[in-house]
Parts: sequence; C-alpha cells; structure tokens
Amino acid sequence: MAGRDGRISRRLDRGGAGRYPPRRVSPPGVRSDPWHDARVSQTESAPRTAIGVCNLCEAICGLQLTIEGDRVTGVRGNPDDPLSRGHICPKGVSIGDLHDDPDRLRRPVRRDRETGEWTEIGWDEALDLVADGIAGAVNRHGKDAVGVYLGNPNVHSLGFATHGVPLVKSLRTRNRFSATSVDQLPHQFVASLLFGHQLMIPISDLDRTSYFLVFGANPMASNGSLMTVPDFPNRLRELKARGGRMVVVDPRRTETARVADEHVFVRPGTDAVVLLAMLHELFEVEGAIRPAAYVDGVDRVREAVRDFTPEHAESVSGVTAATIRRLTRELAAADGAAVYGRIGLSTQGFGSVCQWAVVCLNALTGNLDREGGVLFTEPAIDFVTTGLIGRGHFDLYRSRVRDAPEYGGELPVSVFAEEMETPGEGQVRAVLTIAGNPVLSTPDGKRLGAALEGLDFMAAVDIYLNETTRYADVILPPTTILERDHYDIAFQGLAVRNTARFTPAVFDKPRGARHDWQIFRDLTLRITDRLDRKPSRRIRIRQRLRLLPTPTFAIGALLRRGGKTTITDLRKHPEGVDLGPLRPTLPDRLRTPDRRVDLAQELILGDLDRVRSELTEPAEGLLLIGRRHQRDCNSWMHNVERLTRGRARHQLLMHPSDGAERAIADGDMVRVASQIGSVEVEVALTEDLMRGVVSLPHGYGHQVPGTRMAGAAAVPGVSINDLTDPALLDLSGNAALNGVPVTVSQL
Ligand code: SF4
Repeated sequence: MAGRDGRISRRLDRGGAGRYPPRRVSPPGVRSDPWHDARVSQTESAPRTAIGVCNLCEAICGLQLTIEGDRVTGVRGNPDDPLSRGHICPKGVSIGDLHDDPDRLRRPVRRDRETGEWTEIGWDEALDLVADGIAGAVNRHGKDAVGVYLGNPNVHSLGFATHGVPLVKSLRTRNRFSATSVDQLPHQFVASLLFGHQLMIPISDLDRTSYFLVFGANPMASNGSLMTVPDFPNRLRELKARGGRMVVVDPRRTETARVADEHVFVRPGTDAVVLLAMLHELFEVEGAIRPAAYVDGVDRVREAVRDFTPEHAESVSGVTAATIRRLTRELAAADGAAVYGRIGLSTQGFGSVCQWAVVCLNALTGNLDREGGVLFTEPAIDFVTTGLIGRGHFDLYRSRVRDAPEYGGELPVSVFAEEMETPGEGQVRAVLTIAGNPVLSTPDGKRLGAALEGLDFMAAVDIYLNETTRYADVILPPTTILERDHYDIAFQGLAVRNTARFTPAVFDKPRGARHDWQIFRDLTLRITDRLDRKPSRRIRIRQRLRLLPTPTFAIGALLRRGGKTTITDLRKHPEGVDLGPLRPTLPDRLRTPDRRVDLAQELILGDLDRVRSELTEPAEGLLLIGRRHQRDCNSWMHNVERLTRGRARHQLLMHPSDGAERAIADGDMVRVASQIGSVEVEVALTEDLMRGVVSLPHGYGHQVPGTRMAGAAAVPGVSINDLTDPALLDLSGNAALNGVPVTVSQL
C-alpha cells in the first residue's frame, strides 16, 4: 500500500521530524487526483447553492454557499439564520480555501524515524499502527503511560462529542490535557462551584442590556467567546441606538475598545484588584446590593473584599480610584447591566478570582438571571440538565511530577512536558493528539516539542502536518466541516439567543476518506482488543453499542429527548429554528445540591490571600500580553492567501515611549526575552498599548519546512509561547499567559 498514491520522500530535519511538501491540486473539473475522485461526477454539473455552517470559531455563522462541482465558488452569510442573521467574517469567506487546501492531508501518513520520510499508507495499516502503539504502551507501562492532548477544534466537532469522548475515556489515563487549561478553565471552575455545573456559564443578554462592561475580551475580533454572538458589530450598534453604553477594560486598545463608549487601560495580570475594588465599592453604594433570594454568602463577600480599596487597586493596576468608583456606580445604576470577562481575565495568575468577581458583580447588583443582565441558555440539546457533559470536579487526583490538581479529569497542559520528561512509574511514553498544536499554543512550546520527540510513540488525528504533529509516527486525517453533518452542541448552548440548527454535509465524503467519528470508533475498538487487561465483556459490549450510532442518529435521539424540536424539523429548516430569547431560569436550573448560589466559596476566598501578597505594587519592566486578529484562527489558516494578504500583523506591539526609552524605532528588529527563552521579531510602535506593555499575536511561529504554513504564503512571526512560562498557573490550573515579564532590546 505504501507509496501507491504518492510516496513522498523527505529528509529528516534538525528537529527529527520529516518534511511534507505541498500537495498538487488538480485544476477544477480535472480531478484525476484519487483524493477527489468521488466528486468527479459533479465537476461538470451546474452551480448549486447549499446551506452550510462555519465552525471555525464560536460564532457558528450560517452560510449560503455556491458550489460548482467539488468546489466552493461563493460564500456569504445566511440572512435567514436566526442567530447569525447574515453575519460572516473573512475566515468564513475562506472556508472553501480550507476545503481545497493543498496542505491538508487526505490519507494517513507514516513517518520513518530513521529517514524522516513521510509515506502515505492505507487506513487499516494506519489504525493498526496507532492501536499497537497506544495499547503497547499501556501493556508495558500501565494506562497512565498514554498522554492525550485535545485541541480547540474538538469542541466544534459533532463526531468528537459522540465518538471522541468515549475514545478518550476508554484509555482511562490520568494524563489527559487540552486547550481548556490555556483558555477558559477558570470559567468552568467557577461555574461548577457557584452553579453546580461547569458549563452553566452566564451569558450576557447583549440584545437587551443597557450597560455592557467588558474585561479582557475582544468580541469585535472574536464575535464572542463563551458568549456566542455572531454579528457583534450590529448588535453593538443596536445597543448604542437604544441608549446603552459599552465600557472596555484592557491593556490594549483593541478593535472592541476602539468602538466602545469608554476604554480604560489596566496593567496585565492586575484585573483582580480592580474587580475586587469594584465589589468593595459596591457595598458602599446605597441600594446597590440587591441579590436574588437564592444567593447566599453576601456578608462573607463583604468581609472578604473590605481591604481591597480603589486606592490600592489604582496603585497596582493603573486604573484610577475615581474610575473604579464611577464604573461601579454606573453598573449599580444601570437598568439591566452585564459584566463580561473573557480570555484576558482567565489567562492570568488570578483567573479564577477574576471570573468569580465578575459573577459576584452581576449577582450582587441583581443582574444575574435577569433580562438585560446575564442569563443561562435553554438549548434544544441541553448538556446541563441531561448530564451529557459532567458537572466538573476539582482535585480528585494530582499530577505525578508537580502535584498539580486535575479539573474535570484533565491536568493542566502546563505540566504536559514534565510528565513526558520525568522517568518513573506513570511517565508518559506515548501520546495521542487530536486536532491540536500545543507546541504553538501552550507555554514553553519548544520544550514541549523536545519532549514529544523523545516519546516511544506518537499519533495524531489531524488534517495538518504542523509544529506538533511533525513528531507523530502516524497522522490520521479526518474529513472537514463541508463533508460531514454538523450540529453544534456546545455553542448553541452558550449563545445570546436560543436557536437550533442541523447542517447536513455539503459534499459527499470523498472515496477513501474517513470521518473523525469513524476514526475514533475504530481506534477505540482496536486499542481495546489489544489490551492485555481488557475491560469486562459487559463493558466491551456497552462500548460497542455506544459507538454504533452515527453522530446524526445520536443528535436525532437527543433532540427528541429535549422536546423542543426534532431533526425532521431541522432538516426542513436548514437555516435554523428560533427558540426565543434567553429568559430567567433560576433557581430551577441550578445544579447545586440545595438549588442555591453560595458566593462565599472557600477555594476562591482562600486565594484572595495570594492576591494580597502578590499584587502589592506595579510590576517593574515590560509585561507581555497576547492578542488575536479577526483573520487568524489560533495556530492555523496562516497559509490561506486570502487571509494573510494586507498589512502585516505579526509584530511586537510597543508604546512609542517604551520604544524611545530603549532607542527602538518603528520597524526595528528586537530580541524579546523572558525567563523561558527569547525570540527575535520586528517592532511596531503604537499608542494602542498601555505603557509598560508589549504584545505578540497568539498562534504564530510556523516552522515545518515544506508546508505553506511555514512558507511564502504564511504570515511571518514568532511563537509567543517560546516566552510564556509553564510554572505560572491560576488556582484552577489555567496557564498565566498574560502579564509575562520580558525585556526587549534592539538587535
Ligand atoms: S465569525 Fe467568522 S470564523 Fe466565526 S463562525 Fe462566523 S464566519 Fe466563521
């Protein structure tokens, strides 16, 4: 089988992983390429339109596609979609480019460790190799010898929800890691403490609020995160038209800050003292404390924040005491207000304290579970009430090397490298990554790459050869969004409006391709079959039965159970059905044992001492923060010409005064150094940054030779995670990626 469809000879590069050059794409209509042969019959057909969906980010926009043969020749937002209302961003416009991406793997590939050559192989051979590698590690060293890393795209995949989760669970390893712990873990941690379920995340009622206070979020670029809000720009216009106000607190004048009524600079990593000072101040405002009857712990919160004064916050954060007092009074006086804090709050040393304080501000002002405030969704497939996703748990076990607590069955990804490097029982010796690139997206990526290179075995389920999968022995590439049915379980449950939408595949599955759920199913069964200590027969039968239904069949059953709509209805309305605005649901929807919300959580209150001891004075020197751009999709899509053209955006942003102090001019090359490493990059001076802050974009630094991701079509730039420090963690285990102390010097 090897070599039949294009043996690819490559030499070993310095990192020990092989090269894989761009695949030739046959011209439209002349698909002699066997990867496309299933579509050949359609290449001469007339253009057709199809309803599609974009799953590239949390906004889950509905699309109208023009299809000619096996190509997407037109993309626009679907105006009939009740959630996205016709919105689309440049990434969505490029969805056809992804479908046709020459860098995309279409067949399994195997790497020869001696020569570095990648060779295409058949599915059976590839699945057997992966099953042998994973089961072999378990048989020789125990179940914890297998490490799993799950990237962000998994949460956008129906097949992962139905078949990937059982695969991961079947491995029974404690060494599970994911992008959660470099992203939203504090949200989930706080939600499970306060509301009894990790995904009971309050959603800002953007369509009705009159005061929107935003910390560390950039919805103009993201269209919301843990608040699915496609068409944010228009919704913001509507907010302003009805007399509402948006205030943004951020170390950078982001795209969102630029269109806000007010932007307040805050020193990175110090939002906690600002939020705690707002709570402190709230107790000083007459009539401001009006929590719902099911909210407990108010007096203990009052005591806990007594010493967090606005003056103290000013000295640490740079936000003036007068501003903190004014914002607090505006919040208290608003008729329907929502405080929203996202990744900038979560990815710092006090992410959980910050997210807890955000909930407290909403709850104490009576804006929790109130129209115009923050509310919980009631999706057609309800992962909270059905138990589809667990409630979340904390510290049931700890990591072997650093003694870091788990959350929800996962360890912080910041401990991943040390668990591979450190010998002893439980050392990770084989790794499976699914749709992830942690070498670019998690702290000290270089060290992680070196640890992956030293493994006995590694496999990846991924459509790309990237900075992480380059270390794999086998890569299994699934189909992508246009080739498979889609129902968004996660983000329809986190949206600003209750809607449901099922999107059938736009293209048939190409001959010889596999959906992700088929890969997960086959791996689960093959790995289990190879284990020396197999689960009982009863468990194996249950496992097979669970893996039998297709994701679409499972969705049909879950919709029937939910009782709000059916898959038949949704097939008749591929644009989606509107289930109405968010509405108050508490206390019934609470999953706490007593159906009450106790704000005085011991774990959080205990962490306030750490805030007291660590946030005492402004940091000296420069602090590094990340940033995202509307045309970036984390660490991928940097090879899409449509998205990479235009003004460069890879530079280190720096305030002109900070540049002048160091004799650095706009466009200079500089060395940025942290305790972890250093990078060399071009500087762009801008007053959009607070003084004392520098910023690099997230997900850059491509380096796999031979791919367009690292080639001429790619954005230049360096990886911010060659500077971030895996030692810096929040209470929840989330990495503190923002506020990293760095030096910057001219080259
Ligand atoms: S905002 Fe853009 S990337 Fe996100 S779902 Fe919509 S079109 Fe796709």
